[in-house]
Amino acid sequence: MRLDDTYGRPLRNLRLSVTDRCNLRCHYCMPEEEYTWLPRHEILHFGEIAALVDLFIALGVDKVRLTGGEPLLRRELPRLVGMLAAKPGLRDLALTTNGILLGDQAQALRDAGLGRVTVSLDTLRPERFVALTRRTTHAQVLEGLGAAARAGFRGLKLDTVVIRGVNDDELVDLLEFARQVPAEIRFIEYMDVGGATRWTEAQVVSRQEMLAHLERRYGRVEPIVESSSAPAERFRLPDGTVFGIISSTTQPFCARCDRSRLTADGTWFLCLYARDGVDLRGPFRAGASPEELRALITGRWRQRADRGAEERLRLRDRAPLLQIGELRADPRLEMHTRGG
Ligand code: SAM
Ligand code: SF4
Ligand code: SF4
Repeated sequence: MRLDDTYGRPLRNLRLSVTDRCNLRCHYCMPEEEYTWLPRHEILHFGEIAALVDLFIALGVDKVRLTGGEPLLRRELPRLVGMLAAKPGLRDLALTTNGILLGDQAQALRDAGLGRVTVSLDTLRPERFVALTRRTTHAQVLEGLGAAARAGFRGLKLDTVVIRGVNDDELVDLLEFARQVPAEIRFIEYMDVGGATRWTEAQVVSRQEMLAHLERRYGRVEPIVESSSAPAERFRLPDGTVFGIISSTTQPFCARCDRSRLTADGTWFLCLYARDGVDLRGPFRAGASPEELRALITGRWRQRADRGAEERLRLRDRAPLLQIGELRADPRLEMHTRGG
């Protein structure tokens, strides 16, 4: 089954946020200490998540990435992984985590059938980690990464949000570190999404700048030509090391975006920048049939015309997308609620 939106983009990639809670307070995502959390009774149970995923699979989704908030804070996550991994229609089941709890959970996740793990790591310096996240758990992140490698996860990825004046002097160190793990690192441009209330354009380090920086150190960086809807463009250093850059801010990839997001309370967002989502929990709990729910999803995807990051690019004097007051009024606008 292939379901296309108004630009011919298929429904294929689902990011599943399993919680809006987090054990870090990254400056670019959750700069406040306290947030308006999703009401507990609205959080989907595992059975509900699995049933909704079945609907998406029937409509063409074959890749699911578990995210959050911090997905490893969701109690019994390996049980959900097991339920999803058992679905024949899923070609790829992945997880994005800040790594803190991976030391405890990597093996159980692997045993439950999780395919791939991406760990977010913005710095190798513990004191910088504290400044960036307001927590002192840097060592646990590194341990978690080691545990994932030991548990047998192959194709580990590291995601680094690069921010001028914060960690842009660590590109080479992080790349060298990733090589040793071994993991493929992806440098992400700082995005003005919900949550990033302190974003400024001046802090964005563009893909072009990152490449120039790495070329000064390593010599010619060669682009890898591949046709995929994946947001990362991949590059190869002269010694064969591969890395990625996700240039969502300066060169967005909306034209081939097949991604949508389901929040922990069952709100489906068709774009990271969308103001409104589609409530799937309401009809599901009210007893809508699978046919009715599939019709709802189909109708909305067919009408999808979102190109959020491209629209942001056209703005002059770009400021953060949202202010803290708007986020407090509607927590579903938060990056940590809809999943990165
Ligand atoms: N807590 C998990 C983690 O950090 O990996 C998963 C959720 S987090 C929202 C997913 C990804 O979004 C992380 O890699 C994070 O760095 C990224 N992210 C959050 N805010 C961002 C921003 N303003 N710009 C770019 N990436 C951002
Ligand atoms: Fe940081 Fe991820 Fe938590 Fe956001 S959700 S504060 S990016 S660890
Ligand atoms: Fe997809 Fe929206 Fe991100 Fe563009 S901004 S790549 S349409 S999620």
